[in-house]
Amino acid sequence: MLRADLLDRPRHGRIRLHGRWLHFPLKPADLMLHVTPQFALGVLADMAVTPARRNRVETFASVLEQNLGRTICREFYFPYAEKIWGLPAEDLAVEQARRRVAAGSLAKMARRVLSAIPGLKPAGSGRFFYPRKGYGQISEAYYEAATRAGADVHLGESLQRVEVDRHRASAVVTSAASGEPRYRATQVLSTIPLPVLARAITPEAPAGVLHAADALRYRSMILIYLVLDADRFTEFDAHYFPGKDVPITRLSEPKNYGLTNLAGTTALCAELPCAVGDASWVAGDDELAAMLVDALAKVGLRVSARVRRVVTRRLTHAYPIYTRTYQADFDVVDRFVASVEGIVTFGRQGLFAHDNTHHTLAMAYAANDCLDDEGRLDRAKWADARRSFESHVVED
Ligand SMILES: Cc1cc2nc3c(=O)[nH]c(=O)nc-3n(C[C@H](O)[C@H](O)[C@H](O)COP(=O)(O)OP(=O)(O)OC[C@H]3O[C@@H](n4cnc5c(N)ncnc54)[C@H](O)[C@@H]3O)c2cc1C
Repeated sequence: MLRADLLDRPRHGRIRLHGRWLHFPLKPADLMLHVTPQFALGVLADMAVTPARRNRVETFASVLEQNLGRTICREFYFPYAEKIWGLPAEDLAVEQARRRVAAGSLAKMARRVLSAIPGLKPAGSGRFFYPRKGYGQISEAYYEAATRAGADVHLGESLQRVEVDRHRASAVVTSAASGEPRYRATQVLSTIPLPVLARAITPEAPAGVLHAADALRYRSMILIYLVLDADRFTEFDAHYFPGKDVPITRLSEPKNYGLTNLAGTTALCAELPCAVGDASWVAGDDELAAMLVDALAKVGLRVSARVRRVVTRRLTHAYPIYTRTYQADFDVVDRFVASVEGIVTFGRQGLFAHDNTHHTLAMAYAANDCLDDEGRLDRAKWADARRSFESHVVED
């Protein structure tokens, strides 16, 4: 059992909706407790007409609108979805709604609202645990446990190819500072993006598989960090921006999570969804910082303190994009990888899933349970585990 030094505290955020700030104590979906009368009336009117809208082609847009009504979708979910995934809600698969929207019906949303009311609130709800030294503490705890158990960890190496001999994986070749090390393999456990894995399998996959791998697309993201000469920027952990008027989706201030008490300094982290190679992706740090400061000023969050430092991080594979045809492409690639003995793909990138960290850890524990003492996979048991992963729904 891994233990970490955890902080237990309530979450405190704000969301920008139709030009106003709404405070929410729990999650963006709980904003129903705090909306304007105009918004609430819209939702009530939608509840009256929702059952009549049936029998349309099912997409992310149609299913959410049917279940949540026009007001919540048009004001919140649809613009947010387009920013996050880079496609209009109508072009996204219905699966995106099931996996990504925890409060996917008005009834579920009503239950959440009731559970947030003092007196009706279940004990412990609305509280979150944070590793005291940040997210990296989770990886470090696993790294230390793995090395204690005898694992040999090589960081900073990139997969070049997985060699297959008579339908079985036999070796993994990476590129490293020292050259191209080759590791003999009995069982390859892969958590890199599924299309990257499929392309790395040697001899090369059939053309249809490579074509399907190319069709599986991921949304990218730039994390823009501003280090400010100020004790605090705002009192909120996070601000959410579903509207198209602000290019970022979320702004967090980790100091407000209680992770540090350093006087005279705080940092902001902005999440900017984008595509590899687009104008944001190729912009310099100063340009991105200026864009962020400008966008925040427009919504009344002026950065008046001196910006001491700007740091950016580019994530090529932030979110899988569930286009309306993604499932067929995923199945082709997944079947090909499964046809090679000795390779198992899992994790958020490996199964093209939107999962949270606890979901991917559950996958890792399940994979471990499916391996025998020789490191061979029980395929039937793994197929059962894969079915259980389909019930994962993202919490954010
Ligand atoms: C912006 C953002 C915010 C999030 N916030 C939360 C949150 O608040 N709570 C939560 O629970 N989850 C959150 N998540 C999700 C969480 O990060 C993932 O669920 C988790 O990281 C998945 O772990 P994983 O090991 O499956 O994949 P990853 O963490 O993505 O790891 C995959 C690894 O593969 C490596 N890789 C890729 N290609 C190659 C290659 N060719 N060769 C070698 N290595 C390669 C990558 O470098 C990476 O280290 C967030 C995700 C994003 C993008």
